[in-house]
Parts: sequence; C-alpha cells; structure tokens
Amino acid sequence: MLDRLGFAAIAATDPSRVAVLDADGTSTSYGELARRVDRLSHAFAARGLGPGDTVAAVLPNRRAYYEVRLATGQSGLYFTPIGHHLTTAEIAYVVADSEARLVVADRTLTGTVGAALDEIGFGPGGRIAVDGAPGWTDYEQLLAGQPDGPLPQPRAGEVMGYTSGTTGRPKAVRKPLPDGPPRFSQHVLDFMARLDIRPGREVHLAAAPLYHAAPGTFSAVALALGHTVVLAERPTPEEWLRLVEQHRVSVTFTVPTTLQRLVRLPAAVRGGHDTSSLRSVVHAGAPCPPEVKRQAIELLGPVLTEFYGATEGSATALTSAEWLTKPGSVGYPLPGTRVRVLDDDGRDVPTGEAGTVHFSLPTPFEYFKAPAKTASAMHDGLFTAGDIGHLDDDGWLFLHDRRTDLVISGGVNLYPAEIEGVLAAHPAVADAAVIGVPDPEWGQRAVAVVQPEPGVPAGSALADQLVAHCRTALAGYKVPRTIEFTDELPRTASGKLLRRELRDARRAPAP
Ligand code: ATP
Repeated sequence: MLDRLGFAAIAATDPSRVAVLDADGTSTSYGELARRVDRLSHAFAARGLGPGDTVAAVLPNRRAYYEVRLATGQSGLYFTPIGHHLTTAEIAYVVADSEARLVVADRTLTGTVGAALDEIGFGPGGRIAVDGAPGWTDYEQLLAGQPDGPLPQPRAGEVMGYTSGTTGRPKAVRKPLPDGPPRFSQHVLDFMARLDIRPGREVHLAAAPLYHAAPGTFSAVALALGHTVVLAERPTPEEWLRLVEQHRVSVTFTVPTTLQRLVRLPAAVRGGHDTSSLRSVVHAGAPCPPEVKRQAIELLGPVLTEFYGATEGSATALTSAEWLTKPGSVGYPLPGTRVRVLDDDGRDVPTGEAGTVHFSLPTPFEYFKAPAKTASAMHDGLFTAGDIGHLDDDGWLFLHDRRTDLVISGGVNLYPAEIEGVLAAHPAVADAAVIGVPDPEWGQRAVAVVQPEPGVPAGSALADQLVAHCRTALAGYKVPRTIEFTDELPRTASGKLLRRELRDARRAPAP
C-alpha cells in the first residue's frame, strides 16, 4: 500500500538520488527505478493480468525483487515472494497453491524453479528469467518493449506472503486488495516511527533474505521513505561490519543468529570497524538470547530495536533503552494495537501468568483457501500465531515459546527458548535447541541439541560443563538431562530454529 506513493514522489522531485545499490555495484536512481517499475507494470497489463491475480518471484537480494514488488503494488496484483532456499517440491507447492500466473526467477535459480514448474505443469509462457535463461522470457526484453509513464489507473496491490512453515506447511497470508490507488498507511508509518525509522536520507542495509516478510517489507518501506537500499546476499559477520562502515549504514533489519555471530567475532575484528553510523538495527523473527542482546547493544550501541509479530501482522516493539529496563521483553503494543493473553477458554489470564498471545491486526486477513485455519487463528477479532507469553504489570509482553514447541514433562511446562538462551550464553556453544521427546515416565523430557563453537570438542566433558552451567541459571527441573551434539542446527535463512525437524529425526524408526 505504502510503496508506490513514496518512491514515485521521490523519483519526481529528486530523480538522481540512489535508490538501490546492488551487491555487484550496479547503482539505480529513484528516477530509473520508477521508469523500470512503470514498464514492468505495463508488461503485466499487456499479459492480461488484472486485479487479484498473483505474480510470484524467486529472487535473491537484488533490484528485480523491488521492481516486481512495486509493480504489483501499483497494478492491483498480489505479490508472492518465494524463498530461493526452498526445495523443488516446496517451490512447486507454493506456486500451485498461490495460483500464480507469472513466475519471475533469477537466472541462477531457473534450474530448480524450472523443475518445480514442470512438476505442476506450469506453462513456458509464464516463466520470466532475470538475466535470461533458455526457454524463459528474458526480463529485460519484457521491460524494453513497454511504454514509459505510469499506468492510466494505478491500483493498490498486496503482498501475499507465506509463513515460514515452522509449525507445518507454509500458509499464504492474504489480505483484501485495498480500494483505489496505492497510498501511505498510517499504521506502517507509526510502526516505523516506533523503530526510529524516518523519512529522509538514511542508508538501509538489506542483508537478510528479502523473500521473508520482515526484511522484505522494511526495505520496501525504505524505498517509500527515500532511503538508499544497499543489497547484500548472506554476508559473513565481518562483511556485515565492513558494509556498515563502507556505506555508513544507518538502518538495517537483522535476525538474532547474525547478532550472535557478530558478538562472537574475535575482539580485534569486532572492534575494528566504525559502526557509529547505525541508528536503528531492527530484529525479530526468533528469540534473541538476552546475553546475546546485551552484548550486541554493547558492540553496536543502544540502536537495537526489536518487534514481535508474524507474517500476518505485528504486535509489539521496543528500543534498546526500553529493553535494558525490561530485559527479555519483546515490547509494548504498537500504536492502535491491542494485545491480550488468553487461557484455553478464551479468558484473559492474570498479569504475570502465561497464556496464548493474541493481538489485533490493522487489516483483516485469511489463509488463502484454508478457512478452517483462519478461523482457528482468530478469537474475538484477535489473531494468534500460537505463541505463549505473559504481560507484566506495566503491559510489556514477554514471550515464552510457540505452543507447539512447549515441552510438558510430568505436567510441568518447560519453555525451550528460555533453556536455549542459557545454553547460548556459554562460550563453547555456537547454537542450541531444546526439544521434547517422548518419555514413558514423564510423558516428555527435554533434550538439548548443541552445536559447539568451531574447534570445541563435543563429548561428555562438554555436556557436564553445560549441565553445570544450566544449574547456575535455571531451576533444577528445567536443566536438560540429555545433551546431544550436532555439527549444525537446522535454521531457516531468516534465523528460525526448525525444532520440528529435530523432533521428527528423533521420531523416525531405526533403520
Ligand atoms: P508457520 O506459521 O508456518 O509455522 P511461522 O509462524 O514461523 O510459520 P512467521 O510468520 O515468519 O512464520 O514467524 C512468526 C513467528 O516468529 C512468531 O509467531 C514468533 O514465534 C516468532 N517471532 C517473531 N518475532 C519474535 C521476537 N521478537 N522474539 C521471539 N520470537 C519472535
């Protein structure tokens, strides 16, 4: 909704301002971006796409992502970004489920995406390759044949994003198409202000995967606010620091995994870069262990802003200064947002007690073609992503875990995120996951799966150290009785821990 007005207004008043800087050094001004987006919009219309149709895109972090997003956003179309780390079968599922009429893919991905499209009988006419590929329509040729200038009647589009699929198959979050031309949404502006992101000449580093809801939306909003977006594809922590220093980055979105890697860098590397340009480092998407957050604030300054939400919408946010007075909180409700914590019967639980977190959304949504799932995610007009948490006396929200990740052992609830946070604070631990496995006596018991720091030997000595470490910070019943080791824990590219995969692996019958 917000996209068009902002970037087109800047293209008209300050066309030479840099809008996007690609990782290969290609620089695109606002004037050029607007011209290309208009041409793409004409191309969509020439292909017969009209209000309510869907265009899917499988793209790494590069300019074409914004072009497709902005062009659909002014053509009354749905835009469905698809993760390029997904498998052929997963891509096939999303394309078919979204009913996409066009699929735009990066040349480097046309092998996997092409196989996915073959699987579902998706015709060659709807395949568009950025940088061209045999059997695909070339993206630049598509643009070259189109007129300049805006569409005669621009109409707001929407993003139809898929959830990460942490708890099951990804779900398509579909909002009704807004009436009329694209325009600023006050809710988004209030949200940005809460995260200290303002219109003007900010430099925004887009290094987290853009197909994911939060980084995609934040950097698209940056283009509406006149910022320069610097693109990067999965930089190492050191490259991340170098990019911040080189481009004087002031705003970025990141995930807790990146923060953890940053604070674990050797002191000389960590402290060897000038990061004083940073004003707002937004993070969300997965729990950030409190110790990691504290160290990240020490390293980068009090510039970390966090929010809590899901693909469906966002609920709360807080600044570093607020977090330091309420450590572990995920924030206070966003302007105009109601947050309630309910018990299983839909009644508010008393302050301080755990329940299922529900919040209001600025626009209604449905899970596309899944009305039963939509109904079960709503209660009394409020949405729940199935997170367990509590509100404190001052109305600040603290998350415990996903309902589906809870470990119930002997009738007592264990919250994996709390135990993982303690394990992650140990210097020998690179990453940690806690899952519940079936136990004949207790129903379930907690197993910690630990990825040691490189060079740290796994084994019983380390397990003993970790148990002792947990005892210093956790009540006895929360200390994991079993610690297993792994080379790498399964996380999505957006930093979400796939506990489901770990549980399934332990449920699989022995060969
Ligand atoms: P699916 O619904 O398909 O299982 P998903 O809910 O993991 O996927 P997203 O919508 O991308 O997909 O993620 C939302 C979830 O991310 C929230 O429900 C919450 O569990 C987690 N999350 C978001 N922000 C935070 C935060 N600040 N701290 C802790 N967890 C967070």
